[in-house]
Amino acid sequence: MKSLRTIALKEAQARISPEVKAPSTKISDFYGSNVFDKKKMRDFLSKEVYEKLISSIGQGELINQEDANQIASAMKTWAMAKGATHYTHWFQPLTGSTAEKHDAFFEPSGDGAIEKFAGSALVQQEPDASSFPNGGIRNTFEARGYTAWDPSSPAFIMESAAGKTLCIPTVFVAYTGEALDYKAPLLKALAAMDKAAVDVCQYFDKGITKVNASLGIEQEYFLVDLALFNARPDLALTGRTLFGHISAKGQQLEDHYFGSIPERVFAYMVDFENEALKLGIPLKTRHNEVAPSQFECAPIYEEINLAIDHNQLLMDIMEKVARRHNFKVLLHEKPYAGINGSGKHNNWSLITDTGKNLLAPGKTPKNNLMFLTFFVNTIKAVHEHADLLRASITSVSNDHRLGANEAPPAIISIFLGQQLDEILEEIEHSRLSKKIKEDNGLWLGIPKIPQILLDNTDRNRTSPFAFTGNKFELRAVGSSANSSAPMTVLNAIVADQLTKFKVDVDKLIKKGDKKDVALLTVIKRYIKESKDIRFEGNGYSQEWADEAERRGLSNIKTTPKALDAYVSDKTTELFTKTNIFSKRELHARHEILLESFYKKLQIEARVMGEVTNSQILPAAIAYQNTLIENARGLKELGLSKDAIATPLAIIEDLSKHIGIVKSNIDAMLEQRKKTNAIEDTRDKAIAYDEQVKVYFDTIRYHTDKLEQIVDDSVWPLPKFRELLFLK
Ligand code: ADP
Ligand code: MG
Repeated sequence: MKSLRTIALKEAQARISPEVKAPSTKISDFYGSNVFDKKKMRDFLSKEVYEKLISSIGQGELINQEDANQIASAMKTWAMAKGATHYTHWFQPLTGSTAEKHDAFFEPSGDGAIEKFAGSALVQQEPDASSFPNGGIRNTFEARGYTAWDPSSPAFIMESAAGKTLCIPTVFVAYTGEALDYKAPLLKALAAMDKAAVDVCQYFDKGITKVNASLGIEQEYFLVDLALFNARPDLALTGRTLFGHISAKGQQLEDHYFGSIPERVFAYMVDFENEALKLGIPLKTRHNEVAPSQFECAPIYEEINLAIDHNQLLMDIMEKVARRHNFKVLLHEKPYAGINGSGKHNNWSLITDTGKNLLAPGKTPKNNLMFLTFFVNTIKAVHEHADLLRASITSVSNDHRLGANEAPPAIISIFLGQQLDEILEEIEHSRLSKKIKEDNGLWLGIPKIPQILLDNTDRNRTSPFAFTGNKFELRAVGSSANSSAPMTVLNAIVADQLTKFKVDVDKLIKKGDKKDVALLTVIKRYIKESKDIRFEGNGYSQEWADEAERRGLSNIKTTPKALDAYVSDKTTELFTKTNIFSKRELHARHEILLESFYKKLQIEARVMGEVTNSQILPAAIAYQNTLIENARGLKELGLSKDAIATPLAIIEDLSKHIGIVKSNIDAMLEQRKKTNAIEDTRDKAIAYDEQVKVYFDTIRYHTDKLEQIVDDSVWPLPKFRELLFLK
């Protein structure tokens, strides 16, 4: 019988890319064509309702029933003209992916059928959603949840060969009010940020009435041929390879990064980009990444809520389009041991309704002070809540990056670049004269901040949180994550910090300080207080781990412990004060994340057992039998001891590895039984991490040894060299 591996390899060898045609030669001709954007709103709505909708998007004002009816009807007309037959509320439950439940526009009527879409169906739906993760928030008797329209993210049409669907971005909440999704808390955090940042902006510019957080998400991913993917149960069921000896050629020649993109991959990129562009996702950049068959795409930044919806949608499109190209896209943080993993860099900034980027150093002293205010408050916020930020990016798959000698480390620190680092040093040690008459006099002692920072390009790739010229870049987010979790935290902690800042500054002003003196006095104090979080050196080095420990910074390497920060008193106070999460919601989320952690490890352990027992060991034993046959034959022929020494040595080697693998698989199974009996979710997650997962490395080490010994033609799993190099 031919092995699945052989068939898959043949299939992969014979691939021809499908022809990719863009809807037009110019992207601007079709960009956003599947989005019910402002222009379409204006075309399809009365002027009055259009204006109300716009102000609802900007200021969050409520939309009444009558207006909702008109908006729904306009959406339906537009969507049906484009061929949509169904609509769905589109939301982001805590499973990590997106969810939809489609309903047809059509409704039977007395003499046939008509197409309908009422305002009530636009505004609210009740998905039968009792099986979404809820962390105990919904007992079965109150199992209902509802989705509610988020007008700040425009409706769009999802196309597939089988039909088109109008999608309405929504939040997902329990009937008792608790959030069951990623979007609801994010919107609350953004509202808190808006308020806090606008208040602080008043010190500098009374004309600012709104501050939006901006986000540009770089998305890394791997591609693998679909047939080869299907021949690897570990990849198919867990998203990563649990076995596999590193390929003789990996990334050591550094020839993949920014190299030319393989034709087949290029066709795929263009195809998914076109789909994304039609949905108004402003994809701008594409390139190879460091590891073989690893790539990246990045859009132009947008307002956070939209940027995250777009990233969720993008991941979905990437997966769907990959099928057309017989690829599988791997969004897992670490699909292959021994080569780089994938992240999702979150480039974050704050932008006012006057068009000012609050994290861009300005030309004049006044603008510099405004920049310093937001810059230093961000640093202070991250210093205060480093553990919470760490918790927000943790997951079973991201554990392979953070804390596993890979980019970036589990220690949260901030990289500023030499110039800004020195400027903060100088301010910290400057002497402020309180007696100055003119605000401007103050600036004599304050270093000048160059508008263009040299360090813009001096990227410290080892830092989890780096300032890159006019934005901060959170690099620790995992490639498969929903960015809402870290962005909810980042905006919440900075919002809270800005609120405290205002109190501190106002206190000094009340005591008689001039405004600029008060601002700078507080900034100076914050620089000093948050100094320990700043680190300019190599984040991967042992010296940094030691230094961080001396500074008292946390270095939490695994998820179950990192998650503690979600339910600490400090976090609870922060989130309840800002009205982003209630205590109950935090505990629910904590529970869901722990559960997801150990369940994923449980699946990995099972797959490991099954593949080892039913594929790897049989292949090793079959090869061993061949060798036994060989040794016996040599002996029968009367050959010397020396001649049969080689097959005997290999047989022995095989026996050794087979024995170790088998005993470890059995021991892991026993351990799993014990661990499954643990009641407490946190204890169970820790036990899975410390007592079950520990077997993975040993098992893998020895199965990888077997891979190196066993006859290639009987080895059942596609090897790294076959998976990694796309032709
Ligand atoms: P690099 O890989 O060099 O960091 P990329 O061009 O791949 O740069 O990605 C940079 C990302 O940062 C893009 O998504 C870009 O739109 C985003 N970005 C640039 N300026 C801002 C800003 N002010 N706020 C948020 N994101 C920004
Ligand atoms: Mg970057």
